[in-house]
Amino acid sequence: MNKLGFGYLRLPKIDEELDYEKINQITDAYLAAGGIYFDTAYSYLGGKSEEAIGRCLSARHPRDSFMLASKLAGYDAKSIDDCWAQFNTQLSRCGVEYFDVYMLHWLNKKNYTIAEKYDEFGFLQQLKDKGLAKKTGFSYHDTADLLDEILTKHPEVDYVLLQINYLDWESDAIQSRLCYETCVKHGKKVIVMEPVKGGSLANIPDRAKEILKEIDENATPAAHAIRFAQSLENVEIVLSGMNSLEQIEENMRQITPMPEKEMAILQKAVSVIKGATAVDCTACGYCLKHCPKSIAIPQYFKLYNEYKRNPNDDWKIIPVYDSLILKNGAASECISCRRCENNCPQKLPITKHLADIVQAFETKE
Ligand code: SF4
Ligand code: SF4
Repeated sequence: MNKLGFGYLRLPKIDEELDYEKINQITDAYLAAGGIYFDTAYSYLGGKSEEAIGRCLSARHPRDSFMLASKLAGYDAKSIDDCWAQFNTQLSRCGVEYFDVYMLHWLNKKNYTIAEKYDEFGFLQQLKDKGLAKKTGFSYHDTADLLDEILTKHPEVDYVLLQINYLDWESDAIQSRLCYETCVKHGKKVIVMEPVKGGSLANIPDRAKEILKEIDENATPAAHAIRFAQSLENVEIVLSGMNSLEQIEENMRQITPMPEKEMAILQKAVSVIKGATAVDCTACGYCLKHCPKSIAIPQYFKLYNEYKRNPNDDWKIIPVYDSLILKNGAASECISCRRCENNCPQKLPITKHLADIVQAFETKE
C-alpha cells in the first residue's frame, strides 16, 4: 500500500522564487510513481501554491490523471459572496473546473464560530450539489471535544484533515489520537498533515535513531514517521511536502502496515526526541504574516533547536542568525503583541521562546 499525497506547501525555491522547473520534475516523478493526490489552499504561499498547481500540474497533465484538494480561507470571509469570490479565484489559479476535495481551512474554536456565522458548511454543500466539489471536509486544529461537536452538527462532510504523527499522538495540546478516534467514532475518513512534523522527525537525535533501528535498521527516520501515519485504518491520504526527487522516491515505496508492537517502539523514541527539542515548531509559517516586525520566527526556532542540541556549535550558528536579522526583524524587536501566538496551530509560547533566543544569540560577545 501507499497512501502518500503531495502537499504543495513546502515547494522548492531559488532565491525566494518558486523553482518551476524543479516543481515540474517532482510533480511528474510523483505521478509516474503512482501518486494521484495533490493538496493546496487559498492561502498557501500567498496564492503561489495554487498558481503552481495550475502551471506545473493541470496545464501539463490530463484532469482525470490526478485528484486535487484545496481549502477555503473561511476565517477571512464575511459573507457567502466572499466564499464564492475566493472559490472562483481558486478555480482560475489552479486551471481546473472542479475540486475533488474542498475543505474549510483551519477550523478551531474561533474559526468554527465564523464558519457557522456565514454558513460556510452550507457553502460546501452548494459546491457538492453543483458538482464543483466531489467531496468536502475541513482541516482541524483544536480539541477532540470540539471536533465531536462539529461532526455531530455536520455529518454531511466526508473528510477531516488532522495533524497526526507519532510525536503528537499522545500530546495534550494537539490531541492527535483523541481527534483521530473522534473521526473513527463518526465514521469519517482522515487525511493526515504533518506526518513528519515539518521535517523535524526526519532529523532526530542519534539515541532516537538507535531505538528506531529495532523496527528496521535500513529505514530512514522520515520513512518510519510516514509509515506510522499510513498504518492507521481510517487514514486515506498522508500528505507530505516533498521538494526533491530523492524524497519522492523514498516516500513512494510500498509500505506494509505497522503492527502495534512497532508503534510501541516509536513511542519509546518520543521522550528522547522531546528531550532534545527546545521548540516544537513545524515551520508552517502561519505566524509570519501577522508579525508587524517581520520577525523570521520559524527560521530562528530552527537555529535555536540546533543550538540547544549542540551548544558548542554556537560559533557557526550565531553568524547565520546575524545574517538573517539583516533582512528580518531580530528576536529582540518583538513587541509582545502575540498576534503570532493567536495564529500558531501548535499553540507555542512564541514570545517566551524569542526571549530565550535573545539571551542565546544576541547577548553573546
Ligand atoms: S508577539 Fe512579537 S513575534 Fe509575535 S507577532 Fe508580535 S512582534 Fe511579532
Ligand atoms: S511558530 Fe507556530 S505558526 Fe510559526 S511556523 Fe512554528 S508552528 Fe507554525
